[in-house]
Amino acid sequence: MTIDIARTTLIEIDIQNDFCPGGTLAVDRGDEVIGPLNALADGFTRRGGRVIATADWHPAGHISFASSHAGRKAGDVLDTQVLWPDHCVQGSSGADFHKALDLKSVNLIIRKGFRKNLDSYSAFFENDRKTPTGLEGYLKFLGIETVILGGLATDYCVLYSALDAAAIGLRTIVLTDAMRGVGFPEGSVERAFKSMHDAGVILASSVEVLAGIHSLLTTDSTDRRRGERRI
Ligand SMILES: [Zn+2]
Repeated sequence: MTIDIARTTLIEIDIQNDFCPGGTLAVDRGDEVIGPLNALADGFTRRGGRVIATADWHPAGHISFASSHAGRKAGDVLDTQVLWPDHCVQGSSGADFHKALDLKSVNLIIRKGFRKNLDSYSAFFENDRKTPTGLEGYLKFLGIETVILGGLATDYCVLYSALDAAAIGLRTIVLTDAMRGVGFPEGSVERAFKSMHDAGVILASSVEVLAGIHSLLTTDSTDRRRGERRI
């Protein structure tokens, strides 16, 4: 695996308190993604790479909250909208990034789902599938060709972000050791892996990606030494 750091961005999806153990919509062992993501973000920024973090950012009374619909409970599906417990309410501590996430490396934060009547799983398009977050324009303007995704949750925001990234022509890598799934409804994580595989998304560990950056640098310096000898 070769990672051209100038054309690659790491995207850390929704590492927020409400999605981590103790949160209102906790993903089992969700906080375990933070270590590998911090290591990769550090590897990126040391080499001049870009790191983006996304955040769910809902107003009170958001359409995705079961509490916003009389007689409904979390887990119900209303039209196509899955209903969740209240989570990541704008300005609440639940919406804060987990304190262990290294934000020093992050150069852009994309907040999504901030309209009361529109949910957003993907970092690229909200759930009407046509309202852009602006991330596509940002990446394309900068000449980014590869995105590396990790975070929460495998079967929702990572999945939809990865599918959209692949659909807009980006080489898309998801980090097997830096994402965790909700697992609701049953089998959703397995289906997410199949959908991503079918869409051409590459599965790799953070260690493989880091090694890919190192090998590129090694090749560069070797070429430079060869060039100097020729001169
Ligand atoms: Zn949400």
